[in-house]
Amino acid sequence: MTYGMIATWRMAYEGVIHQSEHLADGSSAGDVLEGVIKEVEEFANFISVGYGGLPNEDGTVQLDAAFMDGTTFETGAVAGLENIKNPISVARKLSKERFNSFLIAEGAKKFAVKNGFEQEDLLTEKSKEKWEEKKKKIELKEMTPYDGHDTIGMVVLDKANHMAAGTSSSGLFMKKNGRVGDSPLPGSGFYVDSDIGGAAATGLGEDLMKGMLSYETVRKMEEGLSPEDAAQRTLEEFEKKLERKYGKVGAMSLVCMNNKGEWGIATNVEFTFVIATKTQKPTIYISNRSEDGQLIIEKPTKEWMKDYQGNLNNRIE
Ligand code: ASP
Repeated sequence: MTYGMIATWRMAYEGVIHQSEHLADGSSAGDVLEGVIKEVEEFANFISVGYGGLPNEDGTVQLDAAFMDGTTFETGAVAGLENIKNPISVARKLSKERFNSFLIAEGAKKFAVKNGFEQEDLLTEKSKEKWEEKKKKIELKEMTPYDGHDTIGMVVLDKANHMAAGTSSSGLFMKKNGRVGDSPLPGSGFYVDSDIGGAAATGLGEDLMKGMLSYETVRKMEEGLSPEDAAQRTLEEFEKKLERKYGKVGAMSLVCMNNKGEWGIATNVEFTFVIATKTQKPTIYISNRSEDGQLIIEKPTKEWMKDYQGNLNNRIE
């Protein structure tokens, strides 16, 4: 039986390494997905997810997350959740609820606390400093708000042929209080059907949610497209439509995997992602779109990896 996982951004790498052993040993797609995302949420230096996530314009960390089981279609999500380190686990817990499975803000926190999740301060000194710096720069008009975001989004296929998809994000840096991105929205930030495959998105939520890109990618795989073609056509078709109707196209990236463990991605910016399958050990790729519109996928250079590590370490005092 085959198995595999694909996740957005370099930040997933260590979690994917740790969980790929469990996946090979027969752990469920849901457990592996939650394991990877929890690891990313708990590492303070990843500043766009979970603990240490970048705050909104009021200086509060508000988190969005979702979990979907591709076999049962159990789906749970939270948005604007405060003071809970592992929104993915809250979302997964909510996926077991017949009703009220997508909760926001205070209601989501109440559910989490009632279910034993501890409340803690998620704002680290480093994110607070970044927030203060950014506030000043925005006031001086040296910088626009909202750049500074990345979601961990992933799809997992386990040995029993079950699939799961999920996301976790602190959304856009300096977002308005209460702003919700695409990440917790089924069909938009993520979607999975074990009979077909799954997809997850990252980028500008306000644009991604207009196209329901994760659902559309899965739908195209159902029509018989390879994951590669499904992701790329979904993004390209939508970009054209968005340009025509709306006149603006933000950053958008997609990852997907079908239930044979084949994967694909699409992006209109520089985008890193992580793969691990039965035949491929955990690998980081860096992708981009060439000037003539071709998708380029490469392994990052040693220099790139070194710079990345340097930036990451700089986030600790
Ligand atoms: N899609 C996320 C949001 O808009 C951010 C990201 O993935 O970069 O909240």
